[in-house]
Amino acid sequence: MDTPTARTPLIRTPLAHTPMSQFARSADGDLLVNGQPLTRLAERVGSTPFYAYDRSLLRARVAELRAALPPEVELHYAMKANPMPAVVAFMAGLVNGIDVASGGELKVALDAGANPADISFAGPGKRDAELRQALAAGVLVNVESARELTVLAALQQQLGLQARVALRVNPDFELKGSGMKMGGGAKPFGIDADQIPPLLARIGADNLGFEGFQVFAGSQNLRADTLCEAQQKSYALALRLAADAPALVRFLNLGGGFGIPYFPGDKPLDLAPIGANLADIAKRARADLPQARLVLELGRYLVGEAGIYVARVLDRKVSGGQVFLVVDGGMHHHLAASGNFGQVLRRNYPVTIVTRSRSEARETASVVGPLCTPLDLLADRMDLPVAEEGDLVVVYQSGAYGASASPQAFLGHPAVAEVLV
Ligand SMILES: *Cc1c(COP(=O)(O)O)cnc(C)c1O
Repeated sequence: MDTPTARTPLIRTPLAHTPMSQFARSADGDLLVNGQPLTRLAERVGSTPFYAYDRSLLRARVAELRAALPPEVELHYAMKANPMPAVVAFMAGLVNGIDVASGGELKVALDAGANPADISFAGPGKRDAELRQALAAGVLVNVESARELTVLAALQQQLGLQARVALRVNPDFELKGSGMKMGGGAKPFGIDADQIPPLLARIGADNLGFEGFQVFAGSQNLRADTLCEAQQKSYALALRLAADAPALVRFLNLGGGFGIPYFPGDKPLDLAPIGANLADIAKRARADLPQARLVLELGRYLVGEAGIYVARVLDRKVSGGQVFLVVDGGMHHHLAASGNFGQVLRRNYPVTIVTRSRSEARETASVVGPLCTPLDLLADRMDLPVAEEGDLVVVYQSGAYGASASPQAFLGHPAVAEVLV
């Protein structure tokens, strides 16, 4: 066997995080959240840790998407990404509809002023009481099983109201390169495509108000080509299923899955090919399904980059030659940044520190939380400004799947505050 004497060294240049330029800096180096210096915002909030969401960035993101997409495509906000009531109310004024996934979210969306005509309710395991609420509210139910149709048919009789239903289809393809696959193959979400035709017949027989289809294949995808392919396949699938529909398709939700960059090497999604692809689909839909509203449902992409998580340095320790910054927040508030929300390999979220000294000095440090578990890690040996007690650690890309997706009761620390700025 050939034993090489000189090998290519295995040291590669480490990939860098995409620079987080969406939050501007003040002249003296403070981070600006919708124009407010973070140090002052922390005083206004009154305690750390907290999440801060920036209205100007939310508005800019929706505007950027609208500019890239054809005018026929409606944007829905999937509020499970960030259900803070003030955020939902703000988003309700920017998008065409809100997607909810529980009776609790339905209440927040209605309180936020969203029009019931533009709310849809997806999710497996909807309880009878939730379906009853949805029917009374007049929202569209994205039906995920035959059982839901049976319950809705009975509720129609009891309440004297017609249910609005769309079928959530578990597609017969997968969304490649997705962080979380939610369609294709054996899945608890939606109804397998081959089981749809008999259910369409039942919808007609039970006089349920048929409106259309939802196809959601997956989440956190940064590849425009695979998203375009999934949209084309979803459209083709819906068109095929529409042949058996008891009424015209008035609502076609092509899913979403647009991702945002979190980790070194991640590149922001290229919207241009997606816009062109959707323009092609919209053009064909004008002929094939002239009554259909075309909808994208997006969570993370709309809100994820507009939020930060902020914690204060409580302690600075050195162990085995490594610096540990112990902060007052951690995985109990931000499970995803700790690497425990569906990630296979732990990688660092983009993190920075707003120091009071504003010194330029940097060092390698780890940021850990106050929980007695090695899982409570916000930054593992990152290059960071040299921090002291009282300085503010900032985790970027924290506007989605933060507070509501974290085990806040774990270890009995205070709950996290949230502000919309
Ligand atoms: C979670 C979910 C979304 C939102 O996903 P994002 O990755 O946050 O955009 C949209 N639709 C459905 C059905 C979902 O379950």
